[in-house]
Amino acid sequence: TQQTLDNIKSVDNDINAFITVDDEGALKKAADVDAKGIDADNLLSGMPIAIKDNMVTKGLTTTAASKILENFKPIYDATAVDKLNKLGTITVGKTNMDEFAMGGSTENSAFKITHNPWDTTKVPGGSSGGSAAAVAAGEVIAALGSDTGGSIRQPASFNGVVGMKPTYGRVSRWGLIAFGSSLDQIGPITRNVSDNATIMNAIAGHDEHDLTSSTKEVPDFTSTLNKGVKGMKIGIPTEFMAQGLDDDIKQTVLDTAETFKKLGATVEEVSLPHTKYGVAAYYIISSSEASSNLQRFDGIRYGRRAKDVKDLEDLYVKSRSEGFGDEVKRRIMLGTFSLSAGFYDAYFKKAAQVRTLMINDFTNVFKDYDLILAPTAPTPAYGIGEDVSDPMTMYMNDVLTLPVNLAGLPGMSIPAGFSKGLPVGVQLIGRPYDELTVYQAGSAFE
Ligand code: GLN
Repeated sequence: TQQTLDNIKSVDNDINAFITVDDEGALKKAADVDAKGIDADNLLSGMPIAIKDNMVTKGLTTTAASKILENFKPIYDATAVDKLNKLGTITVGKTNMDEFAMGGSTENSAFKITHNPWDTTKVPGGSSGGSAAAVAAGEVIAALGSDTGGSIRQPASFNGVVGMKPTYGRVSRWGLIAFGSSLDQIGPITRNVSDNATIMNAIAGHDEHDLTSSTKEVPDFTSTLNKGVKGMKIGIPTEFMAQGLDDDIKQTVLDTAETFKKLGATVEEVSLPHTKYGVAAYYIISSSEASSNLQRFDGIRYGRRAKDVKDLEDLYVKSRSEGFGDEVKRRIMLGTFSLSAGFYDAYFKKAAQVRTLMINDFTNVFKDYDLILAPTAPTPAYGIGEDVSDPMTMYMNDVLTLPVNLAGLPGMSIPAGFSKGLPVGVQLIGRPYDELTVYQAGSAFE
């Protein structure tokens, strides 16, 4: 733990992956683990990890990268964090992210810009950019991220690391600061597939605090590692390989398909015909849910409270105006509009209907195929400052990841090649609750 903290001190000036580093808490926990004795059968005992700053950590500042939560010290641990703690992991700090997880480059953080360790002029992706950069830079061996529309998988792709978004319901969302409650999932970001499966073993499972967490039995996610892909049927969705995709990335997916074929899998083209409506449906649904979830940040209950106010209304308006950044305000307005009486049928309801069509697309493909192979993002990491001022471009970049959230499926990005000298990942998408097949196929690469 001491080495990890020293290393963060020397590396993180250039990377800025962390919002908070908890030297004192981490060393205390390490001493506790030492006192008990490292448990040789528990791989996680004494392991330093990082947590995205939208998961609450008892006594440790949790900001969701927003000024509105600048000095917020939660009084409990998120379930995923608690489960890791009980196995003896050591939280060394909280990682940078887009404010309230809204964004894809970590540039929407109210506090700092995180740099991609492969090229510090590039973004680390987002919104879990701090977690992915911390793992890629060797600051920690594993980190937790959250994924509402791609926020684990896209930064994993940009940083050359492994990122798993589990099936909706697989991991408790208790203590995850809510963005889109029907989409959000916590998942591990690691350097390799087996570490990833090991962290999943720790965090998965039903939680009485989150009624959307599944009561399904949790398998040993490491049990299918290195079992090969012989006989596996893999589909590549035509719509995911369409225009707008960098040539190198397309080639990376095709090369990956060849590797799977050589290992004994069948790979064929499949169709997910409603893919083109995904961005529109996702931004309406996620913003609607966000506009509702973010009502609680009113200057009374949490964090920042505006000064010199006239009355209660003024307190709400000033606290929220000062506390939220531009992108968060944009989403609140979009969501409130989509849910309003006059526009609900035209926007929210339509988006919900499109979502069902997209779920049906996946169900049809999974009748005949075990797994879907796709690019994770249309481009490699781009330059800091390049896209952030253009919301439409930013939103379109999520076209390949957000269908997986709308359908609640497990999806993992694994490093598969390079484009313009930067790492790129491919995405493996499984049937609901079939993370095992995803890990099995992913481990065939290691
Ligand atoms: N980039 C997407 C958005 O801005 C996804 C974010 C996420 O998964 N948290 O909503």
